[in-house]
Amino acid sequence: MRRLGKEETRVFQIKGISKEYITGDLRQKALDEVSFSLRDNEFVAVLGPSGSGKTTLLNIIGGLDRYDSGDLIIDGISTRQYSDRDWDSYRNHSIGFVFQNYNLIGHQTVLANVELALTISGISREDRKARAEQALKDVGLGEHLYKKPNQLSGGQMQRVAIARALVNNPRVLLADEPTGALDSETGLAVMELLKQVAEDRLVVMVTHNAELAEAYATRIIRLKDGKVKEDSHPFLPAENGQEAPKHKNMGKASMSFLTALSLSADNLRTKKWRTFLTAFAGSIGIIGIALILSLSHGANAYIRRLQKDTMTSYPITIRSQTVDLSSMLQVGRENGQAMRSGEVNHSLDGIYSDTGRFRMASMVSSNIVRNDLSGFKKYLDDPDSPVHRYLGENGIVYSYDTRFSVYSYDPDGVLINTDGSGLYNSSLSTGRNMMMSMMGAGTSGNANFEQLLPGQDDELVSSSVQDNYELLYGSWPSSCEEVVLILDENNEVPAGALFELGYLPEAEYRDYMKNLEEGKPAAVENVSWSYEDFCRKEFFLVPACDFYRREKNGVFADITADGQMPESLLEDALHLKISGVIRPVNEEAARNFLGTFGYT
Ligand code: ADP
Ligand code: MG
Repeated sequence: MRRLGKEETRVFQIKGISKEYITGDLRQKALDEVSFSLRDNEFVAVLGPSGSGKTTLLNIIGGLDRYDSGDLIIDGISTRQYSDRDWDSYRNHSIGFVFQNYNLIGHQTVLANVELALTISGISREDRKARAEQALKDVGLGEHLYKKPNQLSGGQMQRVAIARALVNNPRVLLADEPTGALDSETGLAVMELLKQVAEDRLVVMVTHNAELAEAYATRIIRLKDGKVKEDSHPFLPAENGQEAPKHKNMGKASMSFLTALSLSADNLRTKKWRTFLTAFAGSIGIIGIALILSLSHGANAYIRRLQKDTMTSYPITIRSQTVDLSSMLQVGRENGQAMRSGEVNHSLDGIYSDTGRFRMASMVSSNIVRNDLSGFKKYLDDPDSPVHRYLGENGIVYSYDTRFSVYSYDPDGVLINTDGSGLYNSSLSTGRNMMMSMMGAGTSGNANFEQLLPGQDDELVSSSVQDNYELLYGSWPSSCEEVVLILDENNEVPAGALFELGYLPEAEYRDYMKNLEEGKPAAVENVSWSYEDFCRKEFFLVPACDFYRREKNGVFADITADGQMPESLLEDALHLKISGVIRPVNEEAARNFLGTFGYT
């Protein structure tokens, strides 16, 4: 019996692997008893006509797809009993993928695309950045770190994909037709790069370009109809010295979780999506208890930071009423299907009612869930409850969804409601009006004022907010009468909000709308203020209860029912002052608040 050197045991054995795809009545044998072994360090090209099973084979080696029978043995360990978690771990730690169409995230920078793939936990943000930068420099893209993929050529995009695949330093690089979308010259450059990569690891590349394969690969495996037809340099690891294949738990994978988090954080960076979420949450919620779940117990610093970033901008919220979204989507899909399949159980000889929407409405409403928030609050406040210790900063925060109205005077001395309701009652802007009410006016009463996340104990503003925003002027709110102006990264406030808040005259807005309606050119001039001037303005907060007066018969009547707002109400109103001006420190922070003013 021969003792095996360490290098010789580190191999991938594909043993009689078969894979069949069944679509409807059709059985398609993609791989038919494929067997070969891979050295730990070689450049293998898998050649074969289209449909011969190349992609299937690569996906199975990379753990993206499962085999039906046979075995994939890695370092003498069978993968037959791998759990999903083992596969995750294997994929994330041992394998780098490169695809024909690059699969880059279009709205992220080159650097971010590579950073995103880093699964090594417990390293700082700077280290992550440095590693991603190095990986990009290694593929010759050091100059293009902050470009978006669409600003690069195809060859450069494929280089980004290769950098992304290598940033975790995987044992194996798998590439599926990496030059398929490139012209021949660029293709050659990418092949050169892969050849370099193959110097110290295993590269398996699928291609149908025999010329390239012959010029660069150290070994060519030809597939046809799911079978190996030819192997230019077979490898037969000695069987006898090896332990029998056994199962080993691969441990926890981090990639899927991190990627999910970071992808969702990225989604939130686009305001459109967040606006939609806010609108949706606003349209179904009545009173809110915001929950920020902390998984920090035992989690590493990276996850904690990512989580904090994600959670401050998109907390998990429990409201008194919610809708089960997934079953709603299900309902939508089923209904869509029923409609498409044209399920009609009557003949086309008269007039019939279509009750589809009613059925839909009833299904949706039966998916509304009511939460017992009073009971839940008692539970949170109970010192003996297991979640009590998470109350506060980055743990669980609850607040009451207060309704109030804020008024101010515009430069012409006209009293206006800062929710914009006065502005938007012209016929043209009903669409906007609807948007406004969708965008949270329905819950908070005013999209221009947004609650700042409270901190622990008696802290009015969470430190996570204070970390993400820099104070440009004045101070953070120190009482309920103080609000802060939230600027965007460019020190700007949307002009619409300036009209709504009474910084710009209502009359100008009406002129503008009138011109639009009459088809005349319309424009709003750019204006600016100093911090000091802007903060001088006063607002009047009128609580919802002040709008009701008890009639003689004991009934409470809305005193603004005739559309008039009695100025006398302002006498008892809370005077809001602007205590300071804040600006997000980076674009991640910029997504946190949609409002113009933050209150406590
Ligand atoms: P190649 O990459 O060599 O072109 P593939 O591995 O993609 O070949 O496909 C091998 C065979 O398996 C083909 O006949 C293909 O139609 C079939 N096949 C691949 N993927 C699927 C799938 N997801 N569902 C059904 N059939 C599939
Ligand atoms: Mg293919």
